[in-house]
Amino acid sequence: MLSIKRLTKAYGAHTVLDEIDLEIATKDVVAVIGPSGSGKSTLLKCINFLEPYQQGEVRFEGQCVGYREAAGKRREASDRVINRQRARIGMVFQNFNLFGHMSVLDNLIEGPTQVLHEPRASAIERAERLLDKVGLLDKRDQRPSRLSGGQQQRVAIARALAMRPSLMLFDEPTSALDPELVGEVLATMRQLAEEGMTMLIVTHEMEFAREVATRVVFMEDGRIVEENAPERLFVSPENPRTRAFLARVL
Ligand code: ATP
Ligand code: MG
Repeated sequence: MLSIKRLTKAYGAHTVLDEIDLEIATKDVVAVIGPSGSGKSTLLKCINFLEPYQQGEVRFEGQCVGYREAAGKRREASDRVINRQRARIGMVFQNFNLFGHMSVLDNLIEGPTQVLHEPRASAIERAERLLDKVGLLDKRDQRPSRLSGGQQQRVAIARALAMRPSLMLFDEPTSALDPELVGEVLATMRQLAEEGMTMLIVTHEMEFAREVATRVVFMEDGRIVEENAPERLFVSPENPRTRAFLARVL
């Protein structure tokens, strides 16, 4: 469903993604690990075109994301096409990014009604189902600021799911949380994985990656250094740099 080929991105003279190749099939749960500055967040941002890139391609559900070919030249796609592509990809950030001036329920129905033009009644029904699923139906009329960090992040996950994405991207979804709140968010993500959602997760939670991911990707200096099943990568990493990183974090 997602096919990344030779993706290369630079900020000025600084190459931050260097010929990344990555294939993600339906129902894959791929964990991305690696040191700070290795390009993990930038990779996620290129996938839904929050950042432009210079070379290579990101294909999602068969279509090139962000660009189109016109007369042999690469042009940015129209806003309409880019927005339609983005709507199929859910993204959850470290800092929740909920709409602070709206109730929890309104956070969930905003995208479906405004972007997908779903009728309000069916959007509400679906939002309530999703809130129930993440255990927060009783918070539907609250402002996000009244919730704990863990609850806010579960709302952010529910809000992303309200758009019926076929791929979910997570960028360190638990690293802004107090330690006692991490578990509830990971449990929600684990449930999502068990239900067959296709997920790409940047995380420092090695135990979670080991238990939930179908594959783990180790990045360093803008490159994928090693990619393997978690039981292989964590137990017997092939690359010395993977070994050195794991020795630091495990
Ligand atoms: P972390 O684990 O700290 O979140 P990361 O692996 O997500 O790190 P990125 O945020 O993708 O790393 O950053 C990769 C590199 O790109 C870093 O060297 C960073 O300084 C650089 N970078 C990121 N965003 C920008 C920007 N807007 N302008 C210039 N350089 C940037
Ligand atoms: Mg990052």
